[in-house]
Amino acid sequence: MRQSELFTKTRKEAPAGEVSKNAELLIRGGFIDKLQAGVYSYLPLGFRVLQKIEAIIREEMNKLGGQEILMPALHPKENWLQTGRWNTLDVLYKIKDGEDREMALSPTHEEVVVPLVKQFVSSYKDLPLGVYQFQDKFRMELRPKSGILRGREFRMKDFYSFHRDETDLAAFYNSIKKVYKTIFDRVGIGARTHLTYASGGTFSKYSHEFQTLAKNGEDTIFLCECGVAVNEEIRVENPACPECGGKKFTEERAIEVGNIFELKTKFSEPFKLTYKDEKGELRPVVMGCYGIGLGRVMGTIVETLSDEKGIIWPATVAPFRVHLTALAGDDASVISSADALYRTLQERGIEVLYDDRDISAGVKLADADLLGMPLRVVVSRKTLAENGAELKSRGDEKVRIVKFKDLLDELK
Ligand code: ATP
Ligand code: MG
Repeated sequence: MRQSELFTKTRKEAPAGEVSKNAELLIRGGFIDKLQAGVYSYLPLGFRVLQKIEAIIREEMNKLGGQEILMPALHPKENWLQTGRWNTLDVLYKIKDGEDREMALSPTHEEVVVPLVKQFVSSYKDLPLGVYQFQDKFRMELRPKSGILRGREFRMKDFYSFHRDETDLAAFYNSIKKVYKTIFDRVGIGARTHLTYASGGTFSKYSHEFQTLAKNGEDTIFLCECGVAVNEEIRVENPACPECGGKKFTEERAIEVGNIFELKTKFSEPFKLTYKDEKGELRPVVMGCYGIGLGRVMGTIVETLSDEKGIIWPATVAPFRVHLTALAGDDASVISSADALYRTLQERGIEVLYDDRDISAGVKLADADLLGMPLRVVVSRKTLAENGAELKSRGDEKVRIVKFKDLLDELK
């Protein structure tokens, strides 16, 4: 894409009142825009990142046999009365239409997915079953000030699994744990992300969070030497590491990027979601649910992988792989070489943002650092003299000239 055609522009200053690093950098770069507290638009560059995160998660969910669906955001009150959460979930947005009908805006989807699945499940032969979606959630978060880490409207991947019994649920729960690890590795935050024991609520001893170490994280976790962590509550209930029994923890700040729960029969009971087993006996379906916040993941990448100049996107989620910049002044040969290189990269399927704007070199290079594509390629009079372009990774300071004939190999 030609940067001169990108409708967003970078800004020198973050908007007043935006205190989180992720929102500051993402707004300055034109990745997102704030509509109101906790509510953001994703602009072309930011939406590309979100879609790449989504594609990685989708691939991994499909490997688990998940079937992708899309459920509505507008929920009838009755479903929420059925589980009792109409009156107990404090973050629930309740709305009224012109005919005084009350409804909820989706904070999560157990109240919709359980009655949905109930229409199709009646026998042990229909189980196990897993459905998931990428969908917008609404939660009345108090004074959100963490940018896209904590939205009042945010995109979530939510997966719901349905099983004959707790043994089958436990086996699936284990595979999802591994797959979550793979997802966080693939989006570039795996090394800082720790499986974290959290209290399980009424139905199971533990649930698990995936917590990414980050200076500005809202959560406190206690990291054991074995690499597993416990959250604050657990730490109080159970002073030894549930994984290895160790007792030496370091206290860390972290961001919860994912959360998985064994729901067991918590939601199948109120909706009477049952199946007939091999003997013809009626049994409750056993469930699990597994969430990942897409904006939360994107914001976490920015919080943990950036420097004073801007963002450093991992190649797997960067909006473009290459940021090509022509430092031309009014040298037509530089512009025509950069144009030709841009066309070649596109033909080869290498995603490229081409800074063809007629502005100063200083601004272009500063923007390349702010926007954070993994590779920067600069064509200038100086590089043309060597029949090549200057290549630099966003993550390190080394700059070198690569001959045009070798450039494609280097960029692959
Ligand atoms: P938190 O404790 O941070 O409020 P939660 O435990 O209520 O989150 P879950 O219901 O477990 O959140 O949601 C699953 C995932 O959705 C979380 O792990 C997180 O990645 C994401 N998420 C939750 N709330 C938000 C939010 N307000 N904005 C963005 N992402 C969110
Ligand atoms: Mg959670």
